[in-house]
Amino acid sequence: MVGAERPLGLVPTMGALHAGHLALVERARAECRTVAASIFVNPLQFGPNEDFDRYPRAFKSDVAALRAAGVDLIYAPGVAAMYPPGFATSVDPGPLAERYEGALRPGHFRGVATVCVKLFAALGPDRAYFGAKDAQQVAVLRRIVADLDLPIELVIAPTVREPDGLALSSRNVYLDAEQRAAAPALHRALAAIVAAVRSGETDRERVVARGRAELIAPLREAYLDVVDPATFDAPDAVRAPALAIASAWLGTTRLIDNEPILRQAQDDGGGM
Ligand code: AMP
Repeated sequence: MVGAERPLGLVPTMGALHAGHLALVERARAECRTVAASIFVNPLQFGPNEDFDRYPRAFKSDVAALRAAGVDLIYAPGVAAMYPPGFATSVDPGPLAERYEGALRPGHFRGVATVCVKLFAALGPDRAYFGAKDAQQVAVLRRIVADLDLPIELVIAPTVREPDGLALSSRNVYLDAEQRAAAPALHRALAAIVAAVRSGETDRERVVARGRAELIAPLREAYLDVVDPATFDAPDAVRAPALAIASAWLGTTRLIDNEPILRQAQDDGGGM
């Protein structure tokens, strides 16, 4: 952004803002002279049978919340401006984008990578703020920033949760009362995995089994594993750095969450 006081921080979002998004804005506000937020429900990262059409949209209240949080610039392009006729180029993040979330959502991370590169190009931020909740998205973005030599620093903020442990998500509005009551079991499964490793268990399958015992009906597991947070490789023996990742269905809604288990000594504790 020409003329903006630097550093310029960008908080990319799909709107339907909650306290998790606003924590990113707050972090950016504390660290940057100028803060921009984008609101764009990106069709490229939704599969044909996913919830693009019904994804919650709350533009007016989002703008009010961002203004109140001290955002200097809101960038909310339309789909036709982002992807005009003839649009054909995309960013392929490689094999990392085909595992776990990528396996369940083919093309999802290509969509995420492409829109983020476009947002970075449009606004030219020095830093971009993302949530640890979307851990594989973070890994993909670190990969593309490194691989494409993008002159931007990624800042990752910890996951904001409800008091019962459920990670805040714009999709939580899809849950009915019974599903909402069951949802915290996803985080309990992650906590059980962390506890198993901290008690000395290193066999990945046994560790994951401890978490699986918490994933009871009506939750249906999509995946539960312990991975390297940078590559999403899953070695048989758990070793640092290690991240517990989980996803489960509640009806037609799929929730995701993760919890760091073993950090590398030089990590700053930023939630990843
Ligand atoms: P979304 O609007 O879902 O694309 O999310 C925009 C940004 O907010 C992404 O970087 C997400 O990782 C982050 N985010 C979403 N939920 C949370 C949460 N509960 N805590 C922290 N960050 C979050």
